Amino acid sequence: MFRDASIFTEDGYFGLDLVQGENEFAVRNLLGEYRSFLVHDGSTRHTLRFPPFEGWSREYFDELLTFASTGTVGRWPNGAEIPVWVESPREDPLITDKGLQKAYEALEIWEAVLGGEVRFRETTNKKLAEEQGLVLYFATRAEVQEQSSVTTAIGVCSRSWYPSEGRIVAGQVFVDHAYQDSLSRWLHEIGHCIGLGHSPDEGDVMHPILWERDGNLTEKEKNMARLLYTIPMGTQGFRTSKNALQSLPVIPNGVVVDIIVAEAGM
Ligand SMILES: [Zn+2]
Repeated sequence: MFRDASIFTEDGYFGLDLVQGENEFAVRNLLGEYRSFLVHDGSTRHTLRFPPFEGWSREYFDELLTFASTGTVGRWPNGAEIPVWVESPREDPLITDKGLQKAYEALEIWEAVLGGEVRFRETTNKKLAEEQGLVLYFATRAEVQEQSSVTTAIGVCSRSWYPSEGRIVAGQVFVDHAYQDSLSRWLHEIGHCIGLGHSPDEGDVMHPILWERDGNLTEKEKNMARLLYTIPMGTQGFRTSKNALQSLPVIPNGVVVDIIVAEAGM
């Protein structure tokens, strides 16, 4: 049974005073619906606090959405039409059909997740894509490592942005030939290029280590990306320290990782 209740907001959370007995609730917002129930013995006042969506936290926000150098979020403007140039087997004979298919699939998934807030438009104009869009390269391990400066890297995203505006203007993705058929790898690198950092959660595609070669984005990641594109560009994170994200991920047993490079502003 649902009852009418006044929901308050506080500190970025929604809140609701519980009544004695079973409290069932459903919260709908722009990001979707959140349902659960709690039992309250009625002895004292109890307040239910819940985030805008499941899995949300300040720490997760800071790690996944803020740039290390500024502590603010960076993204493309709403409604951006991003020119994308994708390397083809003409330029690189090591590119496979499956590799191309996964790269395009990752673009489609991100576009769908963001519900049209950004659109990827394929172009043959490489210069245009380099200057104001995305360039997707299939690369040798050595090329990826050269870009990332991490010896175990299998993919890398190099993005350019205006820190003062929190606006991304261009990105280059390099994925190792050996991982070109990994959907999660393309999702991960393209994720960086639309403004995401690394997730602390190993179940996420945006975790710095590739755990599942053909994994897909979790609902949490999708919601965080949607959140990113509903808050203003350049929004300040919750953490005040600018150095909190500077440490590189640990590399257990030579498991592959990647890092974001070229975060320097323009
Ligand atoms: Zn990464």
